[in-house]
Amino acid sequence: MSFPENTVPDVVMAPDTSVVPDAATVQTLLDAALQAIAATNDSATLAAAKYQHTGDKSPLAMANGAIGNLPPDERRAAGQLIGQARSQIAAAFTERATQITAVELAAKLHAETVDVTLPTPGHRPGALHPITQMLERMADIFVAMGWEVAEGPELEAEWLNFDALNFTPYHPARFMSDTLFIDPLSSHKLLRTHTSPVQIRALLERELPVYVVSPGKVFRADEYDATHLPVFHQLEGLAVDKGITMAHLRGTLDQLAQALFGADIRTRMRPHYFPFTEPSGEVDLLCFVCHGESVGNPEHPCRTCRSEGWIEWGGCGIVNPKVLAACGIDTEQYSGFAFGMGVDRTVMFKAGAGDLREFVEGDVRFDAQFAGGVL
Ligand SMILES: [Zn+2]
Repeated sequence: MSFPENTVPDVVMAPDTSVVPDAATVQTLLDAALQAIAATNDSATLAAAKYQHTGDKSPLAMANGAIGNLPPDERRAAGQLIGQARSQIAAAFTERATQITAVELAAKLHAETVDVTLPTPGHRPGALHPITQMLERMADIFVAMGWEVAEGPELEAEWLNFDALNFTPYHPARFMSDTLFIDPLSSHKLLRTHTSPVQIRALLERELPVYVVSPGKVFRADEYDATHLPVFHQLEGLAVDKGITMAHLRGTLDQLAQALFGADIRTRMRPHYFPFTEPSGEVDLLCFVCHGESVGNPEHPCRTCRSEGWIEWGGCGIVNPKVLAACGIDTEQYSGFAFGMGVDRTVMFKAGAGDLREFVEGDVRFDAQFAGGVL
């Protein structure tokens, strides 16, 4: 067998597999194997060299197999000669494998190094939306007074949203310009324009007396601007019991106002009209920033109440007996009060925000201000 000049054979083949090589040949095979091991530089070349020099078809393995062909008195010496060569090769492989593993591990650790001292991108903790925070806070105030929280569907029957609440068939609030009806009109379904249908459901489903608040999302075909959203949130309350008067309504609203805005906050009522309450009123909140001191005091104007001293908050009144009668309630025995306010507006006052759109546009820089539950 001949090789081109300047090349080193990586495998030295035993000339005859049935004959045990002599000591010089074994030494040559051993030298070739040790040289090949020394030349390896990674796991892959080491595995290839191991296969070539110690595998079943390697010259020394074949030589070992041929020992049986020798006369019995020569086998021991041949076995020792080949066995020593093979154990030297095995030891060399083990040593080289240890070195290569260490080098490869060091390279891997270097490549995967994580610098724990680098600054992080600064993950902000998650938080509830300010409107959700306010809805929960308002509901909690009522739960503490023994009221129940009632929820209802946002897609509602026209009868529950209007008829049961004493809206006449041609009441302007029903018109398409205000109400988002569901096609076809004959389905008499709509996106609820207030949470009052939840109160009707409560009267129909619950035993008297009833004390429920219904927080939730409502829909109107309104403009989208600084003070109007087509989707906004209300919290309405309804109490129906024996002997309910306007004084109970007033006390309840004061309790809510003081829990939200401070112990010195009062409410005021102005006459108004709603189909579902009689008498009806609008409820104002004493400005929780200036407490009315900005009125007639141009040197200290108040942005929150525009120096009017009071903030328009919601509507309220004594439940119209027609509403109770529509729910099968004996109006000789029972009476009730109801109120409702915009939750978005309440958050706006509390947060001093100037534009309702900021609450729905999802700018995290705005939302993050409320992450700590600061309302
Ligand atoms: Zn004010």
